[in-house]
Amino acid sequence: MLELVLALDRSPSDAHVRDETIAIHGGYDSDGTRAVAVPIYQTVAHDFIDADHAADVFDLAVPGFHYSRISNPTVGVLESRMAALEQGVGALALASGAAAVRYAVRNLTSLGTSVVATPQLYGATYTMFAHLLPEEGVEVRFATDERPESIERLIDRTTRAVFCETIGNPGGNIVDVPAVCEMAHSHGVPVIVDNTVASPVLFKPILHGADIVVHSLTKFVGGHGTTLGGLIVDGGHFPWSENAERFPMFATPEPSFHGVVYARDFPENAYIVRCRTVGMRNGGAALSPFNAFLLLQGLETLHLRYERHQVNAAAVARWLRQDRRVAWVRWSGFDDDPQHERAQQLFGGCHPSIVTFGAAGGYAASIELFNRVKLFKRLVNLGDAKSLVSHPASTTHRQLNAEELRLAGIPPDMIRLSVGIEHIDDIIEDLDQALGSGPAAPPGMLSTE
Ligand code: PLP
Repeated sequence: MLELVLALDRSPSDAHVRDETIAIHGGYDSDGTRAVAVPIYQTVAHDFIDADHAADVFDLAVPGFHYSRISNPTVGVLESRMAALEQGVGALALASGAAAVRYAVRNLTSLGTSVVATPQLYGATYTMFAHLLPEEGVEVRFATDERPESIERLIDRTTRAVFCETIGNPGGNIVDVPAVCEMAHSHGVPVIVDNTVASPVLFKPILHGADIVVHSLTKFVGGHGTTLGGLIVDGGHFPWSENAERFPMFATPEPSFHGVVYARDFPENAYIVRCRTVGMRNGGAALSPFNAFLLLQGLETLHLRYERHQVNAAAVARWLRQDRRVAWVRWSGFDDDPQHERAQQLFGGCHPSIVTFGAAGGYAASIELFNRVKLFKRLVNLGDAKSLVSHPASTTHRQLNAEELRLAGIPPDMIRLSVGIEHIDDIIEDLDQALGSGPAAPPGMLSTE
């Protein structure tokens, strides 16, 4: 018998099991073949038993699959597993992280509404917010920094969400998610947190007040640089019906989906059911079953990889900091790093594996190092098992002007390392040879500022 523990956005059944176990077993028992690996259901559609069954599935009256744009058994295991890891009530997987960001925001917004965002964001998210959403009538206001008071100043009655990244990419700023959520909730506004860089290993935003979590699964979850994917998790706590004026899409009959009233008919998971049946059904950025399978393989080792990423990043950050060819290093594990205290408080003494630094010779020396690495891959991804290097100002954030780059915390000489899980000696030897005989920083320049 098919015993896939999933359907349309049910609460995770694995709450009593620990994370490392959920990442390997969550959401799946076995199917009729007793296959141990999650089968790839490479099918577009599922046949109905009869006309009544078809109508019931369409009405969401019974759980079931009918068309893979809306739901698919392989994709559903990934959704269940991630919802359980993030402690949400349901999840929706998408073709990419960018799609997850877009669908998460558009599920709450319409013409004439606004979103308030922190300025330190992944480049394509920033562009989407600054240029694309305004064309659809959704204004995105960027706070000057990530403090709750800076965000609060921009909230008004048109505001439908606050958006931030737990750890800004590539700035490395850590958002005080509990404080931002408390402030936003006092205005009846939900908070969407992009938890890509932290991953649920380091931080679970929903446990700290977040309402919706988004992920680029392309990064640490997939972990091998093979597969694009995104995901939205519904925390299930936001009182949509108490804020019906701001969120009519949950309180009034949905014209595009059989007049469903989401907050009434799906009180526990209204947000994610609407995102699937309105956003995904009509938008169509579905994750393929094969990509879901690959992402599930990655998820199985996420915890092990993440630990090694952290250990290697700590060694790299410390090595860079003592080297006179390096002008500055940012890593929240340093006692005097501006993000240190918040990392200690929110991540229980653990630190991300993204390290940023500038070479002592400034922009030119940083670029020279970028060009000289051999083991590190020069590319614009992160969270891969391989060590990666990028120069954000000329790539992911190239479209930002000088002031926007400053607000995003990206100096022109910034090199971003996503430290991989190779042997630490090989990683450091590569950086050592790439720094070459580059100029030393003048005395007093070594700092984390
Ligand atoms: N969010 C963050 C924090 C990212 O770093 C990225 C990509 O780098 C995205 C979203 C977009 O994800 P994807 O590349 O899977 O579309």
